[in-house]
Amino acid sequence: MSPFPPWVRLVIFDADNTLRRVTVPDQPCPHGPGEWEPMPGVRDALAGVRWGPGGLLMGIASNQDHIFYGHLSAEMAQRLLMDAAEAVTGHRPPPGAVRFCAHAMDAGCACRKPAPGLLREAMDFHGVGPAATLFVGDAEVDRKAARRAGVAFLHVADLLARAQSTMPPSRGSESPSVNQKT
Ligand SMILES: [Mg+2]
Ligand SMILES: [Zn+2]
Repeated sequence: MSPFPPWVRLVIFDADNTLRRVTVPDQPCPHGPGEWEPMPGVRDALAGVRWGPGGLLMGIASNQDHIFYGHLSAEMAQRLLMDAAEAVTGHRPPPGAVRFCAHAMDAGCACRKPAPGLLREAMDFHGVGPAATLFVGDAEVDRKAARRAGVAFLHVADLLARAQSTMPPSRGSESPSVNQKT
């Protein structure tokens, strides 16, 4: 069962602390393979979603300023983003739908979240408008970027809660009441 509303055609994900989390202490994002793991619970929450032809479209919108600071190449950043998406969803998004900002934090560019540029790029790639797009993220800049792009926002914690509330109760669980925010 999909945790997404029926009007959603395109789901854009933030990456760090949404699809993946870094396993290197004191590092905000992975610089190479083996430096990240899937965010716990998200794979299960998305297990009922069908992606690709006949299903939902996927995009990624991620601030990757560590490219500018020389910690990894743009090619590696893209590969790692696609790896994380595939690990969590079972679907490898098309490269053109994987959008990231490689600029300095203070560059004032039009793509670094909370600017809406990355979300617009992912929507343009798929030819889907804001009314049929949902952005899933974990940070306030994600929420702001969604608002500026005119796109609905779902916090990853709410995605996990929503998925739990639609699952049959497991044995002995005292399923805490879930307040779904809409
Ligand atoms: Mg994040
Ligand atoms: Zn940028």
